[in-house]
Amino acid sequence: MKQIFTALTLVVLLPSFANAQNTYWQQRVEYTMHVNMDVSTHQFDGDQKLVYYNNSPDTLNKVYYHLYFNAFQPGSMMDVRSRNLPDPDGRVRDRISKLKDNEIGYQHILSLKQDGKDVSYKVNETILEVTLAKPMLPKAKSVFELKFKGQVPIQIRRSGRDNREGISYSMTQWYPKMAEYDFQGWHAYQYVAREFHGVWGDFDVKITMDPKYIIAGTGKLQNPDKIGYGYEKPGTTVSRPAGNLTWNFVAKNVIDFAWAADPDYTHDIAQVPNGPELHFFYQKTEKTAEPWKNMEPIAVKVFQHLNTYFGKYPFDTYSIIQGGDGGMEYPMCTLILGEGQHPEGVMAHESTHSWFNMALASNESLHAWMDEGFTDFASAEALAVATGADPKTSHTGSYGAYYSLVASGLQEPADQHSDHFTTNRAYGTAAYSIGAIFLEQLKYIIGEENFYKGMLRYYNTWKMKHPAPNDFIRVMEKTSGLQLGWYLRYWTATTKRVDYAITLVSDAGANTLVDLKRIGEFPMPIDLMVTYKDGSKELYYISMNELVGGKPKEGSVPVVVCEAWPWVYPTYTVKINRKLSEIESMEIDPSQRMADVDKKNNKMVFGDRAPFTDPTK
Ligand SMILES: [Zn+2]
Repeated sequence: MKQIFTALTLVVLLPSFANAQNTYWQQRVEYTMHVNMDVSTHQFDGDQKLVYYNNSPDTLNKVYYHLYFNAFQPGSMMDVRSRNLPDPDGRVRDRISKLKDNEIGYQHILSLKQDGKDVSYKVNETILEVTLAKPMLPKAKSVFELKFKGQVPIQIRRSGRDNREGISYSMTQWYPKMAEYDFQGWHAYQYVAREFHGVWGDFDVKITMDPKYIIAGTGKLQNPDKIGYGYEKPGTTVSRPAGNLTWNFVAKNVIDFAWAADPDYTHDIAQVPNGPELHFFYQKTEKTAEPWKNMEPIAVKVFQHLNTYFGKYPFDTYSIIQGGDGGMEYPMCTLILGEGQHPEGVMAHESTHSWFNMALASNESLHAWMDEGFTDFASAEALAVATGADPKTSHTGSYGAYYSLVASGLQEPADQHSDHFTTNRAYGTAAYSIGAIFLEQLKYIIGEENFYKGMLRYYNTWKMKHPAPNDFIRVMEKTSGLQLGWYLRYWTATTKRVDYAITLVSDAGANTLVDLKRIGEFPMPIDLMVTYKDGSKELYYISMNELVGGKPKEGSVPVVVCEAWPWVYPTYTVKINRKLSEIESMEIDPSQRMADVDKKNNKMVFGDRAPFTDPTK
């Protein structure tokens, strides 16, 4: 009976495992756009031709576009949400509600055709819903021709004109953009606050505007000899035509296209060894000149570190542009505020987004922790190395923010749509800090060597795709040989906490017994470091049975591997192979990578004092 069952199981399971590996698909776009910007009215006319490939197994009767600029109008969902949050973003507050007609943003659709035929469409705030003239079958493609008129809003958040540092145009989320359709269906989210998800594809963009403006953005400029402004090869004679200039940028295999324009940009270039050419665009003033010059070699080192530890940057250029507000990531470029004393912090963060999410394009609306958190993690390590800071303290701030959120009672599960958190604080800490700790704590669980191997494997397996949380954890499972689904679910889908304690140490003749207690609901493997009075150390490693194995030895301290701790048991007793009188101290997770919410009960120092106490009482 058993043998028959096994045979049947194999027959049934093998094909479905094979399918799970081979069913990944993603849609594809090819945009050709030409926009004419009128700098006196801040309005622009756009012609967009979009070849859309339906690589899904489904027939599509509708498609959806994002019209992000429509959010910058009084009464929009972004406006109402901001005015109703308990802790609104200080940059938005009620500013949208006060915009005048010539200050709002909009994208008006003038005409839309599918394969030459008019389609019917409906604009619902920031979403354009299109009923197709002809349904798109699986593997079919259609050409959408769209004419639109836009008005650039006064800068509120990310996009806009005339921001507080005086940059003329931050042109992000500026064109009608096809929403993503993937294994979860359409992601036609209204633009309420943050995060974006895009379709992979190519962009060929022409921008015509007043020749005094310098444009920086996604892609590579195709006509540098007609433009100049530092884009031309040194020594080339630039021949600009009379009248407005038309800039032509091409970007291949990206998920978005952003640009910025200002008449006063200085354009510097630095080369990353075996990496991209970095372009810096900023208004050179007393405030910016020195910080930006100092930042340039740091940016080179940041890219070098990320190339080594997280995968090779996939393009040959990257632009760091003074623009918008705060900082925001786009393919092949970022827009950051430029007047701070240390722009390198934001630069490092936004540049790291080139890995997470501009190459590993997870759905950042649903899993912001994979985007912001992974970026926070990798940029903190890269910036520490680039500036000579102690890399051991890279993630201290993330743990601090998490512990403080736990104490506030405001924590929510990290894996939910970014716009639906109850407070900005809960979103911010979940996305950035809890996301970063997810990785640092994973290092603790699977060991540092497995971790960095896994990060490279993740990049090489999933770059230029849309990895979901399970795709990430599967790569880490394959790399470490350990079962990790429990960790993904506990850390991202719940607010359960890790809290372990040393509760009792007792004399057992030649041995010492240590009672450990799991106080929190979140089970973890335990590193128990024992320091002896003779100065030597031993690490008692207690795996957790859900891991189905254990991590390899880290560092030089000898490891004593104990029986795994079955997670349902609240207590566990460790037998130390030496007398109690020989022990100086013991500590749970001296690396501090485990996010234990109460560390007071993690350590015992004996010294000459007689044991024993129960620190939980
Ligand atoms: Zn970010």
